[in-house]
Amino acid sequence: MSDYRLDTICVQSGWRPKKGEPRVLPIYQSTTFKYDTVEQMGRLFDLEDSGYFYTRLQNPTNDAVAQKICEMEGGVAAMLTSSGQAANFYAVFNICEAGDHVVCSSTVYGGTFNLLGVTLKKMGIDCTFVNPDDDLETLEQAMRPNTKAVVAESIANPALVVLDFEKFAKLAHSHDVPLIIDNTFPTPVNCRPFEYGADIVTHSTTKYMDGHAMAVGGCIVDSGNFNWEAHAEKYPGLTQPDESYHGITYTKKFGKAAYITKATSQLMRDLGSIQSPMNAFLLNVGLETLPLRVEKHCSNAQKVAEYLNAHEKIASINYAGLPGDKYYDLAQKYMPQGTCGVISFEVKGGREAAVRFMDSLKLAQIVTHVADARTCVLHPASHTHRQMNDEQLAEAGVSPGLIRFSVGIENPQDIIDDLEQALKAV
Ligand SMILES: *Cc1c(COP(=O)(O)O)cnc(C)c1O
Repeated sequence: MSDYRLDTICVQSGWRPKKGEPRVLPIYQSTTFKYDTVEQMGRLFDLEDSGYFYTRLQNPTNDAVAQKICEMEGGVAAMLTSSGQAANFYAVFNICEAGDHVVCSSTVYGGTFNLLGVTLKKMGIDCTFVNPDDDLETLEQAMRPNTKAVVAESIANPALVVLDFEKFAKLAHSHDVPLIIDNTFPTPVNCRPFEYGADIVTHSTTKYMDGHAMAVGGCIVDSGNFNWEAHAEKYPGLTQPDESYHGITYTKKFGKAAYITKATSQLMRDLGSIQSPMNAFLLNVGLETLPLRVEKHCSNAQKVAEYLNAHEKIASINYAGLPGDKYYDLAQKYMPQGTCGVISFEVKGGREAAVRFMDSLKLAQIVTHVADARTCVLHPASHTHRQMNDEQLAEAGVSPGLIRFSVGIENPQDIIDDLEQALKAV
């Protein structure tokens, strides 16, 4: 299947019905699965046979959708999670434990910033945030002997920083640790991080992948490229026997599937952030049209960005599709087809002007969401980044007046007309 091109994979991959089975991916709305003998089910618990037994660990609907995303990214194994937050948590926690350390770009999504900076810290995993625009030499200073991963976003939400993949891959690999990339914003339609050195990719499928704002979900994909065995002392969880499964060693038994198998059989078993099969079904419907929607989001966003860029009431704008944008060259290099539909900008007059402008919008509605079919808008300093102080906001690339504008797939002129009337109000 993976010989097909991406738009074909989006429609055809994942669920492959056998004779007489439903053409459309069925929702396996069942917590449990039946076996004929005690021995058969026993072998599943030993990881000796693969098969379904309880939906907290695996479900056929979920696995079909994970397989599709795996092929879209060009990976070897993937799993769905209940949310993007769970995906990023599992991606890191699968290879880190108390006493370990990660290095993370400071411009990551606010939820990831809190996860790594606050919650994982309480679990004994330390994080150093780095400015993704720093040169390699400066970034190197954050790496420690106990660093186990480097984490970043391909396009940062909402700072819209385009990652210098080559630099970050070098940073991670010269210290023998994997590069984990949250690829939510460009999606594999516009960027496939494995081609640029990423080892693990995560997604909040809640965004463009679902695309209709119907289902919260996440996904982790493994490229299969990172050699855990070569750095066995750093990753004992993958390379040493797991006593909770009668002493199997994941890298020995599962080869390139070791990382995802461990995340499923340990983290899903113990933490249980499985995606519901109903949500996986909705996600799959979204994936079928993802390439069409992403193209339209990007062409609409380009028009909106050009309109705003030329407007006298706009103080600044971030959109990597604009020549002159700080990240234009990186975007051309890593995502030449387009970046995403999200733009951020400031209206002249700072925080108060931003609030007045946003309250005047009609078509673009204020929601906490981003990256779905309907144009929507959010004020990060008042909303997603509300917990941050001004210094942290600056580090995250979020100024107090910044507006995050998620361009939908409506007619672009209607979106521009709405902006025009709201800008008249400030
Ligand atoms: C939204 C988002 C998340 C969190 O995902 P949820 O599905 O909301 O848990 C993580 N990373 C990025 C880049 C996001 O935009």
